[in-house]
Amino acid sequence: MLVTCIDSMSAPAQVIEAEVCVVGAGMVGLAHALEARRRGLSVALIERDHHAVGASVRNFGHLFFTSLGDGEGFDCALRSRERWLELGASTTLELRETGSLLIARAEDELAVLEAVAGDPAREAVMLSAEAVTAMVPVDATGIVGGMHCTLDLRVDPRAAVAALALALASDPDARVEWGRHVHEIEPGCVHAHGLTINAPIIIVCPGPDYRSLPPALRPGLDQLTLCRLQMLRVAAPLGRHFRPALATGLSMIRYPAFASRPQAAVLRKRLGAERPELLEAGIHLLIAQLPDGDLVIGDTHTYGETLAPFGEERLDELLLAEACALLGVAKLEVRERWHGIYPSLPGSTFLVTEPLAGVRVVENVAGLGMTLSLGQAPLVLDGLLATAGV
Ligand SMILES: Cc1cc2nc3c(=O)[nH]c(=O)nc-3n(C[C@H](O)[C@H](O)[C@H](O)COP(=O)(O)OP(=O)(O)OC[C@H]3O[C@@H](n4cnc5c(N)ncnc54)[C@H](O)[C@@H]3O)c2cc1C
Repeated sequence: MLVTCIDSMSAPAQVIEAEVCVVGAGMVGLAHALEARRRGLSVALIERDHHAVGASVRNFGHLFFTSLGDGEGFDCALRSRERWLELGASTTLELRETGSLLIARAEDELAVLEAVAGDPAREAVMLSAEAVTAMVPVDATGIVGGMHCTLDLRVDPRAAVAALALALASDPDARVEWGRHVHEIEPGCVHAHGLTINAPIIIVCPGPDYRSLPPALRPGLDQLTLCRLQMLRVAAPLGRHFRPALATGLSMIRYPAFASRPQAAVLRKRLGAERPELLEAGIHLLIAQLPDGDLVIGDTHTYGETLAPFGEERLDELLLAEACALLGVAKLEVRERWHGIYPSLPGSTFLVTEPLAGVRVVENVAGLGMTLSLGQAPLVLDGLLATAGV
């Protein structure tokens, strides 16, 4: 990769030549940069912040391949899974092959799980109530069974995103530039703070900050809205260990693999009647353990074009009450609270726009960017390479 300095009237600007320039070092940007390197292309990855602080470090690190609906979504999930496993073997990334565990506390939940487990491609295993409590230390009260989603993987998002960026930074044919806000893009050229990148292929992955992109890049992005999620980190009760990430019936009416089954209609109706406050707050309980033992608990979903910056204690209390009930404890010690934001477009998993020749803007719009980005990036690269002549 060629790096030069040119003198201008103001300050000298560094110039980088690369075959691919990726803007944004969250999971979506990292996935595209890694895919470009996998194909032997030189890469410049440009990030506004000094390390990633967006949605990619604020999530559960739950790689929920099983949750994707049949067809393109599930194909993308399986492709992504292969690449996660590759990266687990070739980088410092710590990947946990734990699967995830969906816990049924009613017969209608069990019926949804059985419908999913009936598809052998899902590699999901139905469990008795006893097998669920043998696998994870939860309160046995009311549990009627569960499903071990063996395909699913887990990472610590804070460490994983850093490990993937490090893998690129250590690669002589990749260059990672932190603290560089990209303010202008034209075909073949990206202008960032103190830096110009000449690249025939440009992939822009701004996450929820798509509205701060230069106007030339915004066509097609107006259809997006924002989704804000409240999250908690709590001390694990009595040093308990949870290998798989845990989810309950609330996830079965949210994720397409479950929600698309006819059996989910009954469940949705019952939960709507029994727990309207949870459905209104878009709560689906997910619990994932960090390497130091703490539990990440979430999440809530609030949608809007402009989102209030204020965390709602009422929503945290609802989440904590759900978690306490599942774990069979009276109280959980909260260590951290935060929120994350992702762009949303109902009914889609990715939005890929082509605002300029050789330029793509890529957004995960389903809140599953950790799970799917590595599977989407090959499609985006295929499309660009077919026309770019690199
Ligand atoms: C709370 C929460 C929980 C979630 N849980 C899960 C989960 O368990 N599993 C899962 O699969 N998905 C999960 N998701 C979704 C997943 O985290 C996102 O889909 C994914 O992280 C999006 O990655 P991204 O790179 O698009 O966005 P981000 O991580 O936000 O990264 C975008 C980056 O672009 C940079 N950028 C923007 N504009 C510019 C510019 N002009 N110049 C330079 N840099 C710029 C930003 O600084 C930022 O670093 C969750 C999301 C949230 C919010």
